[in-house]
Amino acid sequence: MKIKNVKAIGTAPEGLNLVVVKIETDVPGLYGIGCASFTQRAEVVVTAINKYMPDFCIGRDADNIEDLWHAFYVSSYWRNGPVLNNALSGLDEALWDIKAKKANMPLYQLLGGKCRFAVDCYGHASGPTPEAVAESVQKFMEQGYRHVRIQQGGSSLMNFQKGGYGGVGTLGSNPDFKEAGFGMPSDTFMDDKAYLKAVPEMFDLVRKKCGEEIELMHDIHERCQPMDVINLCRHLEQYRPFNIEDPLSPENRSWWKQLRESTTVPFAMGELFNNINEFVEPMMNHYFDYIRVHVSQIGGITPAMKIARLGEWFNVKTAWHGPGDTSPVGHSAQAHMDLACWNFGIQESVIFSDKTREVFPGCPTMKNGYMYVNEVPGHGVDINEKEAAKYPIDNKAPGWTVRKRDGTIIRP
Ligand code: MG
Repeated sequence: MKIKNVKAIGTAPEGLNLVVVKIETDVPGLYGIGCASFTQRAEVVVTAINKYMPDFCIGRDADNIEDLWHAFYVSSYWRNGPVLNNALSGLDEALWDIKAKKANMPLYQLLGGKCRFAVDCYGHASGPTPEAVAESVQKFMEQGYRHVRIQQGGSSLMNFQKGGYGGVGTLGSNPDFKEAGFGMPSDTFMDDKAYLKAVPEMFDLVRKKCGEEIELMHDIHERCQPMDVINLCRHLEQYRPFNIEDPLSPENRSWWKQLRESTTVPFAMGELFNNINEFVEPMMNHYFDYIRVHVSQIGGITPAMKIARLGEWFNVKTAWHGPGDTSPVGHSAQAHMDLACWNFGIQESVIFSDKTREVFPGCPTMKNGYMYVNEVPGHGVDINEKEAAKYPIDNKAPGWTVRKRDGTIIRP
């Protein structure tokens, strides 16, 4: 079974750039698709796929996934960048889709079969005040969710432009750098002192209004100083968080040991990791509890399964990154891994719109806070190229420039 054609398909049905790779084989009608969604630089990923993958892939054996993965991984010599990793993920997931279709099985069967009947997920509760966050949590509870991530001030990429995760209490205010005309008008402001004060207040009110049963999570998004994170997490222990996500930026990795020894809150970490090797040392030292990975960022199912299996030896569970800028193909690939990995932890979920479902037939579905995959051969998600073409991608990246009061850039 040879690869006959490779191409990128970009689409943005909800305004977030999504990219998938489509691989056709010389077996009539047998093709696969994989997620390569790096929303902030989508057009560069499309170029990497369309300019470099056909020559590399066409004529190769589509069955040899591990070999193809390694061959492409080292083919540029310099590696581990987000653009090529995402392109590689598209190739990898498409090949797994093809293999499962060829085997006439849902993908989870090839990964070892089901460890659970469905995938337990969390929803995103957010709002401008603790009361609004609690109301949002209650809506998820009414839908049957057992886990909710709480963020005051918004949790979507779009909300970064209105002040970001850490913009609590500062929305609408005019920080000094703006008064001084420093930076660009679209730059956002984070008042870390206001944020550090607001998060425990939010947890306190949500616990009071929503009770002890619901599992609560929160994403620090790597934006605070290590010592402030330690103090915050100690304060949050009384609210029994299910996990605290991305407490430290990758540049602050040397603080892991001190953070871990200072608090008992569980951590989810790794959203900004590029390479599975980055997980080895923190796992061996039990620095975190949940593997937080943007699966396309590290190169797809093949490397993600290796991290998941490694986690089993150290009692570290999976918590794949599943926001709106992961395509439904990526969400489905993750759900198949979630079904098959014993050390599954929790899955981030989004609600797919009708538009998205038209572009991507076979999207996973949600019921009572559980995600179900489309039980057909492959990963279950297809792409309607005609519908996809109605929503072209663009090169307008979301605003990730967040500054302190004096204008200093804050690393996410
Ligand atoms: Mg995060």
